[in-house]
Amino acid sequence: MPIKTIHRRFRRQHTRQFGPRVLATLVLLFIGPLSAGERGPKVPDAVAQEVAPGVFTLFGEINHPTPENQGFMANSTFILTDEGVVVIDTGSSVQIGEMLLRQIRARTDKPLLAVLNTHVHGDHWLGNQAMVADTPGVPIYGHPQMLALIEQGAGAQWYDIMMNATDGAIAGTEPVPPTQTLDDGDSLSVGGLTIRAHHYPEVHSTSDLMFEIPERGVLFLADNANNGRIVRMDDGSFRGSLEALEDIKSRVTTAEVLIPGHGPVGDWSIVDDYVGYLGGLYEAVAEFYDEGLSDFEMKPAISERLSAYADWPGFEGELGKHISLVYLEVEEEAF
Ligand SMILES: [Zn+2]
Repeated sequence: MPIKTIHRRFRRQHTRQFGPRVLATLVLLFIGPLSAGERGPKVPDAVAQEVAPGVFTLFGEINHPTPENQGFMANSTFILTDEGVVVIDTGSSVQIGEMLLRQIRARTDKPLLAVLNTHVHGDHWLGNQAMVADTPGVPIYGHPQMLALIEQGAGAQWYDIMMNATDGAIAGTEPVPPTQTLDDGDSLSVGGLTIRAHHYPEVHSTSDLMFEIPERGVLFLADNANNGRIVRMDDGSFRGSLEALEDIKSRVTTAEVLIPGHGPVGDWSIVDDYVGYLGGLYEAVAEFYDEGLSDFEMKPAISERLSAYADWPGFEGELGKHISLVYLEVEEEAF
């Protein structure tokens, strides 16, 4: 719901209830910054699933952000330690962040020790606001490129994208960027855990971090490999993704549970399945490119060839765009 609509509805309801003096006070309140009436609704509690010892994931709907799911369509995870809690990805809004916090607070009163953001796309970090409200000063980690993109306006852009997609459900959210950086090969020691950061310059985006936590046997794939969902690649690279996913398999030897940005957790087959899509698409585009076909001419044949992925949300909507993006990469490689 757009802010204006909520605002108007609030005023309409309360004009009937309150006398003129109270109304005058309310009008004064509206002159200030965001009032409580302009906030999007609470997000219903999701069940936190223990995917590895002390590692709890909240699974967003396998879909795009909609008014119905209120933007809850990415995975968020929290890890309990003796000293406190580590959070990985905080969702699309302050409301989702608060819902995540309710799940944490149902299990522990200990403070948040660190918040990790996998990349700059808003469905993974706009809930940071709720983490800071719970534990003021909690360090938030992201890749330097994520901080740079937010500096250039990515936070405001993602706020707008999510507001539009959810019809205003995220109203009241304020983008709170990371305060600390982690780059490829960096290790963080927190709450008795080792958090190893893996970064490849051009994958799903240019700001992705994959997090490996050996003590719990988990690897966070971010959006570089998703399970049952095709994601946008507008600011990513197919070739870069394929090379990175090949490399991460030999680099990370401690993980048995892989947690994707979207979709259920699983083992390394998540990576193989996603490579099947990315690689199959790349090969097909290269082949038809050599035959002289344009990107839209090759789409029906590619759609047919990748039909194993046809029921993954995002396939319909993204395939045409993905073919065009790969076409450019293949063309670039040919020169
Ligand atoms: Zn993403």
